Amino acid sequence: MKQFDMGDNKVAHNLNGATFFVELPTKGAFYPEEHPFYNKEKIEVKMLTTKEEEILTNTSYIQNEVVIDKLLENIVLEPNFNPKEIFNADQLAILIATRIDAYDEEYPVLLDCEACGAKIEHTISLEKVLDNVKESTIEKTDHGTLIVELPKSKKTVEYKVLLPADIASIERSVDKMKKMDIKTNFLDEFYKRIIVSVDGSPDPQEKSSLIKNLKIKDSRYLTACYSKSLPDIDTTFTATCPSCQKEQEGGMPFQANFFFPEF
Ligand SMILES: [Zn+2]
Repeated sequence: MKQFDMGDNKVAHNLNGATFFVELPTKGAFYPEEHPFYNKEKIEVKMLTTKEEEILTNTSYIQNEVVIDKLLENIVLEPNFNPKEIFNADQLAILIATRIDAYDEEYPVLLDCEACGAKIEHTISLEKVLDNVKESTIEKTDHGTLIVELPKSKKTVEYKVLLPADIASIERSVDKMKKMDIKTNFLDEFYKRIIVSVDGSPDPQEKSSLIKNLKIKDSRYLTACYSKSLPDIDTTFTATCPSCQKEQEGGMPFQANFFFPEF
């Protein structure tokens, strides 16, 4: 069993109501049983205080690109929470909900027009972004796995979605095996970890035979389905240039004023 032990959980729980709940886009459905978010539709988050402001302005955290992880570690109140062990959509929902709670649901962004280079001032409604959860169309099971039929072999594959930390661990073990002259590649190891059953059978032999003989078309299909497995927050917005009137589309950028709005 994988442990989600991140050492001491420093968060005090007598916060006198200074917390709120964030709805998880995944509803906790795809997490392993021992995960703090497992089957949780909502999680409790601490409101931002000057302590979090110190984290957000810590230059060494910013330089080492750990500032968001440090913030999440501090505000997410679920026991044994590890910021590297959550799905992207859930992370985004926590950050957006925290920003709305701390300041405002309006997020002004400054963009460059792709056509004429003029500055575009655009305001994003963060409430709308939070509501814009796109569900996956892949068939789900009751125990957080997904099911697809491969187009070439017609085999039915049940698979699970890995946490970001699991992907990193596959990369490390593939590197290690290559150094030991064991013939392998990322995709083979990835399939070994995600595939739960083949045509309803959890037999490891079935699994390795499927992986060994996987046709390109089936492999592409499986990875394409995998990438669309989870609910996602669609942050796409359209802004119009005030100079040339051209419309441009983009995903929500994280600019400095996301957590430091100017008053
Ligand atoms: Zn323009």
